[in-house]
Amino acid sequence: VTGLNYDSLLWKVAKPCRYLNAEWNSLHKNPAEAKADFCLCYPDVYEVGMSHLGLRILYHILNDHPDYLAERAFAPWPDMEQALREAGTPLLSLESERPLGEFAVVGFTLAYELTYTNLLTMLDLGGIPLKAAARAESDPIVIAGGPGAANPEPLADYLDAVVLGEAEESILEIAAAVAQYPPSQGRQQLLERLAQIPGVYVPAFYQVAYDDRGRLAQISPNNPAAPEKIRRRLIEDLDTAPYPVKQIVPYLETVHDRVVLEIMRGCTRACRFCQAGMTYRPVRQRSIPVLLEQAKATVAATGLEEISLLGFNSPDFCGVEELIEGLLAEHADQGVSIALPSSRTDTFSVELAKKLARVRRPGLTFAPEAGSQRLREVINKQVTEENLFSALAAAFASGWEAAKLYFMIGLPTETLEDVGAITELLEKVVSRARESLGPRRGRLRFSVSIGNFVPKAHTPFQWWGQETREDLRAKQALLIKSVRAREIKLSWNQVEMSRLEAAFSRGDRRLGEALYQAWQGGARFDSWAESLRPELWEKAFAAAGLDWGFYANRSFEHTDKLPWEHLDYGVSKEFLLREAAAALAGELTPDCREGVCSDCGACEPAMRNQR
Ligand code: SF4
Repeated sequence: VTGLNYDSLLWKVAKPCRYLNAEWNSLHKNPAEAKADFCLCYPDVYEVGMSHLGLRILYHILNDHPDYLAERAFAPWPDMEQALREAGTPLLSLESERPLGEFAVVGFTLAYELTYTNLLTMLDLGGIPLKAAARAESDPIVIAGGPGAANPEPLADYLDAVVLGEAEESILEIAAAVAQYPPSQGRQQLLERLAQIPGVYVPAFYQVAYDDRGRLAQISPNNPAAPEKIRRRLIEDLDTAPYPVKQIVPYLETVHDRVVLEIMRGCTRACRFCQAGMTYRPVRQRSIPVLLEQAKATVAATGLEEISLLGFNSPDFCGVEELIEGLLAEHADQGVSIALPSSRTDTFSVELAKKLARVRRPGLTFAPEAGSQRLREVINKQVTEENLFSALAAAFASGWEAAKLYFMIGLPTETLEDVGAITELLEKVVSRARESLGPRRGRLRFSVSIGNFVPKAHTPFQWWGQETREDLRAKQALLIKSVRAREIKLSWNQVEMSRLEAAFSRGDRRLGEALYQAWQGGARFDSWAESLRPELWEKAFAAAGLDWGFYANRSFEHTDKLPWEHLDYGVSKEFLLREAAAALAGELTPDCREGVCSDCGACEPAMRNQR
């Protein structure tokens, strides 16, 4: 369409397939016929972005509408960024090879905070002014959504609008507004229209003030079109929600090279550190006949040989055994395997894994998260050592010889004894596994991952600061020294990466300047261990007059105004405060699917009546 392309650049870069066009099932509509055209952007490499179901869903919703069009763009790896800059070629959409700046809407899916610098790279290479206030009528509207926008305040200067919650419905309302009021004919009018769509937040329509101690003093609307609070959107009935059957089949291997069948949304197990567990409440399921039909149609349309059942904890799906039997009956003879990602620590998930092993033996993952029973009660992780031992015994008796285990350090109230309890638990796990495996013990392997706690907005732990880097490093060192069993392969997260995530996940608008400074200095792909450059971030925070430690490590008072308090993700502040108090008291909150409603605020009135 534009005469622009990457043809002369691809030989210079690794993995040129990241930048090719026309994969199987990709869609190519005529831009001249679209009343609203979107470039859907994912600020990470193609292999990561194409594994994101949310992006695929929006792509199909927009393209299925006769008046709208969606194309895709991903963050160029630094070799491609350099090639583009040297050639003076802008970042182009994959489908029609148009610069991002030519679209009416550029929409970012944000999986988490460490992709923010890549968002700036994509805007810059796409020919779009970085700051929303600097954009002209001819520039696109820049929108973002996804879990990484749960607290979008650090991006407030760069985004024209933010979509809160599930976007299947709101994306079409946004497209209709763009078609009616194209940005080229009056940006302000369009932004005011967008601010009136439920679940759409226009940051420029809110003013922010800080007190003399640097704390947030006020955040309030400055435009009559903007509501005091914006409530996130939620899809009530997953059966009628669009699901992309004709999924694009990439040329290169992606992170999830399989049919992703979304069986459910939401989780009410109430782990107190988990943002997704809070913001995607309540639990909603697709019905089994609909899922079987979607799986059949997607396998036929893609030729993929694995179906992965997507849900926060897929064994929690009511009727999961019937679903697995149905899928195996349809697909086992075709050699299509079924994967059931799970972090449940119980024998039920092992029994399910045994069923799936009829085609291919799946990996087993258990997530006790904390080593001591005391700390598991603080975080509301309702598993005991015995649950873990019996699940592992069942797995080893059924032929497994390896498993993954996830733990976290730096959790609220954690002591060195709790960290030591991780080592003790692992020693018991290994000794029991050796006994169970008998002569097969030589093949025993455990991959143990140690994450650093990152406090997240909209969770009961949102008021806690992250531990200092010195404390986290000391705890990592303790584990590295004390976990000795040769069957265990220990891995851990970079402290600086978690510290950056902590600063941005609870940050305010002032962080926008630190972000810009870091990006200007060369920060890219901060979630990639080989790319993260903490020294750039130290300099960036200093240049912005900010303290990285203040943002990562500070604890909020319960009376403090929080930067995201005008954004309503369903769960109420009263519920989060009750859960924070229960954490300190070591009290458990039951899953509301199994017991009483804890009145978290997430159910819309119509849904609450159904319970
Ligand atoms: S409102 Fe009650 S039933 Fe609904 S998700 Fe919250 S705790 Fe569960």
